[in-house]
Amino acid sequence: MASLSRNLLRLRPRTTTPLRTFSSTARSNLKVLSILYPGGKHSSVTPHFGPLAQSPNPQPSLLGTVENELGLRKWLEDQGHELVTTADKEGPNSEFEKHLEDAEVIITTPFHPGYLTKERLAKAKNLKIAITAGVGSDHVDLDAANKTNGGVTVIEVTGCNVVSVAEHVLMTILILVRNFVPAHDQARSGEWDVGAVASSSYDLEGKTVGTVGVGRIGERVLRRLKPFDCKELLYFDYQPLNKEVESEIGCKRVADLREFLGRCDVVTINCPLHEKTKGLFGEEVVGWMKHGAILVNTARGAIVDKDAVAAALKSGKLSGYGGDVWYPQPAPKDHPLRYALNTEGGGNAMTPHISGTSVDAQVRYAEGTKAILEEYLSGRHGYREQDLIVRGGGYVSRAYGERAKRGGK
Ligand code: NAD
Repeated sequence: MASLSRNLLRLRPRTTTPLRTFSSTARSNLKVLSILYPGGKHSSVTPHFGPLAQSPNPQPSLLGTVENELGLRKWLEDQGHELVTTADKEGPNSEFEKHLEDAEVIITTPFHPGYLTKERLAKAKNLKIAITAGVGSDHVDLDAANKTNGGVTVIEVTGCNVVSVAEHVLMTILILVRNFVPAHDQARSGEWDVGAVASSSYDLEGKTVGTVGVGRIGERVLRRLKPFDCKELLYFDYQPLNKEVESEIGCKRVADLREFLGRCDVVTINCPLHEKTKGLFGEEVVGWMKHGAILVNTARGAIVDKDAVAAALKSGKLSGYGGDVWYPQPAPKDHPLRYALNTEGGGNAMTPHISGTSVDAQVRYAEGTKAILEEYLSGRHGYREQDLIVRGGGYVSRAYGERAKRGGK
């Protein structure tokens, strides 16, 4: 498919030279374990929208599911490797734990993360590489991975779904600012009470929006906000944009989190989950936000304290919370952010974890996962620098907190 190879070319500019310490011989007979979400009856759906729908040989829309296995089964088996795929990932009797010990490669996705905790890594005696089919590798205990089997490589398909997420962020901001969900509920339920919804519906124009994290997603969010004529576009990040990009977007860095939050009407979270961001939006930090502000989180569920956010909605401190990330995932039925509402009975724009798994994004992360696997199985190890999170016992990425730097973002 022409669009597939175009995407692959975009994803695979080789920028790294293999490290000398890694074997350069092709591998055979190894076990690949993949933990993916179940597509069920939807796994046979093919694209019906946009250019992907024009393909004469359409692939399934849900490439990243247990049923479709990122398109890897035949390719791996033809090379003599074993592929085990499951969605059963929790608890000591899960399929995940059963196959953990002999898997050399683990592939998982943030949408249905196979959590590689310190305890699980201790059991993974053969594990050499953990591939994230997506972006965000916090489901792996990265410090423990650095100490496991001489350093497990943790690698992801950087950039594969950043547009998908940025679009979801924009949508969520507008849904909350304009009070869309309660208005749509009225349309579907046969009600008609304009006052009830219009009383909490505003324009985005003239408001201040800020992103925590201005990497690939955060920058794209700011760029997409530019035509909305916001009062200010702000960001908080220890890795600043260069001045030309700042002036092109018309955004400013605020180095102090409390000052940043005190200026924003809308805050969007676009940084990875690591030890400095875990639980960051707890009672105290939410307290630094403007009264009635909106918080959008498509980064990771554990960056916010779910109870603090639910309480802030209830008290009126926040007028909206939205996004698609939860901890743990799948979110339990009693997760408070499924049901939390603001003082007017609205303000909730949560979805299951879907923003980065659009049909278009799945094509890109399936291709990217295969390209990483190819580098591993061939023994070349010519990974893209920007895909590497940890390798050889240390951090390569600079996005997982300020620490000793080894290059890459
Ligand atoms: P990126 O590496 O390009 O950018 C992350 C930025 O966050 C970096 O600039 C980094 O310096 C900054 N950062 C790190 N810690 C910070 C902190 N304490 N305060 C402020 N900034 C901090 O990553 P990206 O591609 O933009 O993705 C960001 C995150 O979004 C991912 O790590 C992942 O958790 C999440 N994500 C979610 C989905 C989804 O489907 N919901 C999809 C992709 C990514």
